[in-house]
Amino acid sequence: MVIGIDLGTTFCCVAYIDENTEKPEIVKNSRGNITTPSVVCFNGEKAYVGESANEFKLKFGESSGFKIFEFVKRDIGKPIEIPPDLYRPDAILPVPAPYEVAGFKYGAHGISAIILRKLKKDTISYLKKRGKLTKSINEKDIELPAVITVPAYYGEKERQEVKIAGYAAGLNVIGIVNEPTAAALAYGFSQSEPKRIMVFDLGGGTLDITILEMSGQDEAKVIASEGINQLGGMDWDKIIAEYIFEQFEKKFHTPVPTEYGYKIQEYAIKAKFELSEKKSTTITISIDDMEMDLTLYRERPEGESIYTIDDDKFYFEERSTSLLSQCKATAEKVLEKSKLSWKDIDEIILAGGACRKPMIPKLLERISGKRMGEELKVFNPDTAIATGAAIYGFHKGRKKITDVLAHSIGVKYQTEDNRYFIEHLLFKNQPLPASAEKKFKAGPNAIVEIYEGESKRPDECSYRGRINLDNLEEGYVNVKMSIDGEGILKVIAEYQGGRKELEIYNELYQFDERAKILREKIQSIQIME
Ligand code: ADP
Ligand code: MG
Repeated sequence: MVIGIDLGTTFCCVAYIDENTEKPEIVKNSRGNITTPSVVCFNGEKAYVGESANEFKLKFGESSGFKIFEFVKRDIGKPIEIPPDLYRPDAILPVPAPYEVAGFKYGAHGISAIILRKLKKDTISYLKKRGKLTKSINEKDIELPAVITVPAYYGEKERQEVKIAGYAAGLNVIGIVNEPTAAALAYGFSQSEPKRIMVFDLGGGTLDITILEMSGQDEAKVIASEGINQLGGMDWDKIIAEYIFEQFEKKFHTPVPTEYGYKIQEYAIKAKFELSEKKSTTITISIDDMEMDLTLYRERPEGESIYTIDDDKFYFEERSTSLLSQCKATAEKVLEKSKLSWKDIDEIILAGGACRKPMIPKLLERISGKRMGEELKVFNPDTAIATGAAIYGFHKGRKKITDVLAHSIGVKYQTEDNRYFIEHLLFKNQPLPASAEKKFKAGPNAIVEIYEGESKRPDECSYRGRINLDNLEEGYVNVKMSIDGEGILKVIAEYQGGRKELEIYNELYQFDERAKILREKIQSIQIME
């Protein structure tokens, strides 16, 4: 059995395909929930993950001795330490993100590995309960085969770190799939006639909009992808939280004590969820011995003038105007990038829990002119991606799923006047597999350096690897690059007197010593309930 994992910034979800019914099933975690918060709370060698980590966070806040990590997905791909290779004056260095606990530097992928281990553990218990696994099997006895999803814009380094995280967690990662591709598979688009689909994925802290082409022969091709990595459900939480802060201060003439910040956040999230179901909700705020009721409305009642300025009333949709316009602008940007208009899009599908707010499908209906339920699908936004990953795993080998290159790849070269530029060989959004070659002038002892990124300037791109030619004389070097469907980049440099090869993710990111150390560490941690 292969499981599909949506390793989200704020929530994770696991699904599998039942071998008898061939229908997707969602795994319930140890608390009986279909999603698990991507939160880790360390207490020495013990790690609390998910709901229990959230409980620690709420109870003790950040001032406790516990180490709490959230939103680690944003830092995947950033270096734990800066490799000496990157120490060059022309490189803009990314911020190191050590995620250190008791002297061990986990990195964002190490923390993700802990989350994955918890997901594995809960999945095994769930499968045992349902009679899908023998009762005697323990977590460490099996390398559960898994497909993990990643954002479409992830580069090779990020993808490889996710693989390492899976490996360290004791999973056998048999595939990495783009989240929008998974969402489209969940909606069954691979079986239908050729269609152009927009996947609108609004998660906890990120918005990713992707246009895909699904053609009859079970192919998914990413046409273009755009996103905002600082826009998501939590921004809507903030709108409600600010209102609570404001009203509290107005009533009690004192601000909410800072240590109750998390509590207000909880109230806000609860109110937000209720407003997805109901037109209005009343929440009781209770801080120390101060108590107040607040009523929040989803939208302004029909007929009420928008000129009635009443700052005390809370109309969720109106207060979300600027967030909604960012959603609209991003959707328009991805259309523009793919040179398409709304009428070229056959279907829009919603992924991400934050799409459960009715204002999201409403916005998309308004801007696209598509009809809800027909061309605009909101079925189960928070399980769609995991379900698609499970479907992918189930059919792996049978289906052909084409992805596109997330970033352009090129070679750094030196001009006559000693300046450095990037000459791109492979281009962003080019379908995979892809290959190209180019001839460059090469001085003695030339170095072929590979960079990933859109800019012509090396300092604005990220360094991926190098080949030292060891050539003695001035001449030419022919650089061949090819990248396969799994994203493994192969670079071949042919020059007078030699031929050298570099396989980028193997050389730099295969399960090396560091990955093995990480795995040992992750396996030694006690995952608490
Ligand atoms: P990610 O992919 O970023 O991990 P998800 O796709 O699971 O996250 O989306 C999480 C976001 O969705 C959170 O901000 C959460 O509050 C929000 N969310 C989930 N369910 C609902 C709901 N019923 N109404 C409104 N927002 C919701
Ligand atoms: Mg997500």
